[in-house]
Amino acid sequence: MIPAGFDYVRAESVAHAAGLLAVDPDAKLLAGGHSLVPLMKLRLATPSALVDIGRLDTLRYVRDEGGHLAIGALTRHRTLEADPVVAARAGLLATAAAEVGDPQVRHRGTIGGSLAHGDPASDLPAALLALDAEYVLTGPAGRRTVPAAGFHRGFLETALEPAEILTEVRVPAGVERFAFAKFRSRAIDWAVVGVAAAATAGGIRVALVNMAPTPIRALAVEAALAAGAPAAQAARLADDGTEPPADVNASAGFRRHLARVLTARVLGELAPS
Ligand code: FAD
Repeated sequence: MIPAGFDYVRAESVAHAAGLLAVDPDAKLLAGGHSLVPLMKLRLATPSALVDIGRLDTLRYVRDEGGHLAIGALTRHRTLEADPVVAARAGLLATAAAEVGDPQVRHRGTIGGSLAHGDPASDLPAALLALDAEYVLTGPAGRRTVPAAGFHRGFLETALEPAEILTEVRVPAGVERFAFAKFRSRAIDWAVVGVAAAATAGGIRVALVNMAPTPIRALAVEAALAAGAPAAQAARLADDGTEPPADVNASAGFRRHLARVLTARVLGELAPS
């Protein structure tokens, strides 16, 4: 439980951090440290250096930009949970953030760290997939925007290039109703399975936590709903196209069952009253 040796540099700006990553491909960014440090203690991650972006307050904000909500990458889960602007403009994100770990984790962990870590058991990536969010990535070559649907590429694998930093999350306006459900073994645990759903004028988006190597849309459910199927019937398709893991918490078959049950639950909550 003792990490391998590493250098430590406190970044003074995004450009400084990106420059440090560019010259040392084995360096890693440190944000809240709540995913990276446990991996380092187990020596599953052995970065040559930690580039600490945790004090870059320029990356800690929530701004209503009209057409979208802009959230700085260092915004903590606790802020997402408590900020009235997030509640009003991206209630699904606020609800999912309130389900992350325990208060200590939520006071340290950041939205950028959760997305960049790329764990399919994380709550925020699926919520942001259902919200059709976009991510701003900043690196030595400038800035680019990647849709949530194209960001997670595999287990712990993202579209981030080696010297890129996730700097902003953009959540579009237009979600009329939302629901989130998470099944876990103990109150503070990661999801065994989770389901996030967002209803817009154009239809319903459903995204699943821990049902594949990445967060994944339940496209068969969405298509059935769009074709007019009742929610209970559509929910039975929730595990179509998924690859749920089997581990100490649940078999793949139990996860498929949970996905169907939780999807029926969130679709029930989404129904207009
Ligand atoms: P860090 O640990 O600092 O970094 C994680 C990775 O992302 C590192 O590889 C780092 O280099 C990279 N990185 C960080 N920021 C950026 C950036 N801006 N741009 C590019 N790369 C970046 N999560 C859940 O979703 N649900 C849970 O129920 C849950 N329970 C938890 C319980 C415990 C006890 C713990 C310790 C963690 C739990 N987490 C849970 C994870 C938690 O949400 C983490 O805080 C989060 O996943 C990582 O955020 P961080 O800011 O701590 O990132």
